[in-house]
Amino acid sequence: MQTIDKINNDWILRFSTPLIIGGPCSAETQEQVLKTAYKLSKASIQIFRAGIWKPRTKPGSFEGIGEKGLKWLQKVKEETGMLVATEVANASHVKYALAYNLDVLWIGARSTVNPFTVQEIAESLKDTDKIILIKNPINLDLELWIGAIERLIAQGIKNIGVIHRGFSAYKNAPYRNVPNWEVALDFRKRFPNIPILCDPSHICGQRKGISKISQQALNCEYHGLMLETHCHPDKALSDAKQQITPEKLLELLKSIEVLNKNTKQKLELLRIQIDELDHHILSLFSDRFKLSSMIGKLKKNSHLPIIQHNRWNQIIDELKPYVKKLSISDDFSEILLNSIHKESVNIQNRAMV
Ligand code: PEP
Ligand code: MN
Repeated sequence: MQTIDKINNDWILRFSTPLIIGGPCSAETQEQVLKTAYKLSKASIQIFRAGIWKPRTKPGSFEGIGEKGLKWLQKVKEETGMLVATEVANASHVKYALAYNLDVLWIGARSTVNPFTVQEIAESLKDTDKIILIKNPINLDLELWIGAIERLIAQGIKNIGVIHRGFSAYKNAPYRNVPNWEVALDFRKRFPNIPILCDPSHICGQRKGISKISQQALNCEYHGLMLETHCHPDKALSDAKQQITPEKLLELLKSIEVLNKNTKQKLELLRIQIDELDHHILSLFSDRFKLSSMIGKLKKNSHLPIIQHNRWNQIIDELKPYVKKLSISDDFSEILLNSIHKESVNIQNRAMV
């Protein structure tokens, strides 16, 4: 039996890379599915995706067309020759997807997070030679992602890959799902044999940024991309804001370069991690300054002075050993902490009036 370290990745070699999976978030009507599929097949897309059962955050939203849509996917396969893919989230979905002979099944981020669900899906797929892709769990937990792969391998499933779709964030995030590239890159370092695709659509949550994330993923030597594509994106019943037209997908594919491993690429790898951290730092500053403003109001109501030297000296003293441990220079920490203090005093002053 194969192990996670020596996983058989022959399936990806059957495709030209980068492997592009395109298609709508959800199958909605036969006309929408076939129209989108025809355009994508002309753009040489190799795998067509469409969600049949949709895990929605709130009840009352469109939850997928169900079995009827599987017939449309069969038609796509017969008429265009593309392979077809959908998300499965329980044993019954698997039963239907296998009965309609879909080629690729993926486990969504909300399922990867639940070991019972993954186990149920894995058992219902026992010994399958279908391609099974596992999206990262919605939370930042690399071991949970790895655990899901192990559950599939334990059921004799051979053709496995993963999809990096970002991790959920609360407020202030420039993405719908923050890429946290370092997690996916750690994954790649540990399991270089497991094919990895990126899903820029669910990372961005809007059309803006999809091309940049796609390029970054290819710079990191991902094997491909999953991009949500709809013939009329604005009318989509799910994820309308992040879907692009087949024409835009083609434009995007023409504009991205597949770089060779060289200094430029290594630089890029470091830069995307720096960009991500800079966003995070700024959003932490914003949270910190909101607290300063609340303190300003409290001081005003209690007639306390803004500057309380003891409190600030105490903060600095407590931070000194921490700064040392983090190998941040004394000069830099002094400038940074003083600037924070100065801004905090300004904010409190404003809150006083
Ligand atoms: C999807 O691919 O439409 C989907 C629901 O994705 P995720 O599991 O990444 O949220
Ligand atoms: Mn979607």
